[in-house]
Amino acid sequence: MTAVAEVMDYAEVVERFDPVLGLEVHVELNTRTKMFCGCANEFGGEPNTHVCPTCLGLPGALPVLNGKAVEGAIRIGLALNCEIAEWCRFARKNYFYPDMPKNFQTSQYDEPIAFNGYLDVTLDDGEVVRVEIERAHMEEDTGKSLHVGGATGRIHGAEHSLLDYNRAGVPLIEIVTKPIAGMGERAPEVARAYVTALRDLLRALDVSDVRMDQGSLRCDANVSLMPKGASEFGTRTETKNVNSFRSVERAVRYEMTRQAAVLVSGGTVVQETRHFQEADGTTSSGRTKETAEDYRYFPEPDLVPIAPSREWVEELRGTLPEMPAARRKRIQTEWNLSAEELRDLFNSGAVELVEATVAEGAKPNEARSWWVNFLAQEANAREVELTALPITPAQVARVAALVESGELTNKLAREVVKGVLAGEGEPDEVVEKRGLKVVSDDSALLAAVDEALAAQPDIADKIRGGKVQAAGAIVGAVMKATKGQADAKRVRELIIERVGA
Ligand SMILES: [Zn+2]
Repeated sequence: MTAVAEVMDYAEVVERFDPVLGLEVHVELNTRTKMFCGCANEFGGEPNTHVCPTCLGLPGALPVLNGKAVEGAIRIGLALNCEIAEWCRFARKNYFYPDMPKNFQTSQYDEPIAFNGYLDVTLDDGEVVRVEIERAHMEEDTGKSLHVGGATGRIHGAEHSLLDYNRAGVPLIEIVTKPIAGMGERAPEVARAYVTALRDLLRALDVSDVRMDQGSLRCDANVSLMPKGASEFGTRTETKNVNSFRSVERAVRYEMTRQAAVLVSGGTVVQETRHFQEADGTTSSGRTKETAEDYRYFPEPDLVPIAPSREWVEELRGTLPEMPAARRKRIQTEWNLSAEELRDLFNSGAVELVEATVAEGAKPNEARSWWVNFLAQEANAREVELTALPITPAQVARVAALVESGELTNKLAREVVKGVLAGEGEPDEVVEKRGLKVVSDDSALLAAVDEALAAQPDIADKIRGGKVQAAGAIVGAVMKATKGQADAKRVRELIIERVGA
């Protein structure tokens, strides 16, 4: 028997198959308290300190719905262009898992609060893909298991397990896409771009910390393949809890190459959950996937149905901020940026800082250049976020204004910013203390020009003979003599004047 290749070359995969994606994103809401009780909704804390009879599912304890969580769910639904249910309710999703103290999860089944929406996603090259949203429903998070003694933190090989129920009952919204088909080789990129766009949207809504590293935003990636030309979806796998944007892209890509290898070797893809391995970018088999019947859903008898009034929904619509995609478009137009410049600006994480600097009076291009270029490098060198640099947008705007008025050259301006970063005070104080003002006094400059011309008579002759570009060497000498504090343009004018060229 010959060994079957474990994965197929990616180019061959997309030549022979059409991938179909389904993305399920869980987002933890940043409400003050949990979904059905008054326990603190906080990340971390000593294990089992944020718990009560309700979130532990003790007999007789009754849930009370968190209104703020419903508000967050509706705002998310509206931002995703969804319809908001006039009437919906919770259901019990029955399954046993040690991190689920009630033996059922309070979730929404066939009556989600939001459904039928979409999110427009911009790919790296600027192409916009519309991802359709099936539903966004409310549920509660589970607790966390900690497996002790095994090599990888997995239950496999562990000596014992510990359970922390602090997270049990934290409000969750699960956002489920409709099948995303027809993306071909770009499917992995679309998956990453979608989760990124969704994170940006949720951040703008301020409904969640959206931290993938802390699990407040988690993505399950469903992937299936169908042979080119087929119309029926293949069997899908669900890679659980992928915890970075890049991993989402890698997981989708790997599943495509793995499933293709299974299919061409005559095998069948098993419907199962899979785990993503960060280290080598592969996925491994988890448990066989349950179907809806296995969960024996039934309406939650302890909670009344939710019927958000249309007035309330419209009121919440009024609280939506400018959506990230619209904001990008506005910024690109207002600041006259190319697609590349816009991308660099957003990737640098400097948008808010640049906006604030513009609000303080700086020109968009100047503000952008300071933050995206010079200050980003400073932040990099210090290994801190841009926002952590000890300089404010107002200070950057002041430096830009000094350059604009001709009181500082660009070179001197950088010195001033360095001074501010070093804690030497406001820009004007740094100018004063370091003596950085441009020498604008013509008589002082003329002395330096004459000196430089006298030192290089051959060059002076060249300029006199019409070779004006030779003036550069004299400009350089004057700049050196004035420690860079001269306005190079003015120096050039004075040189030409002096030699009478
Ligand atoms: Zn509780």
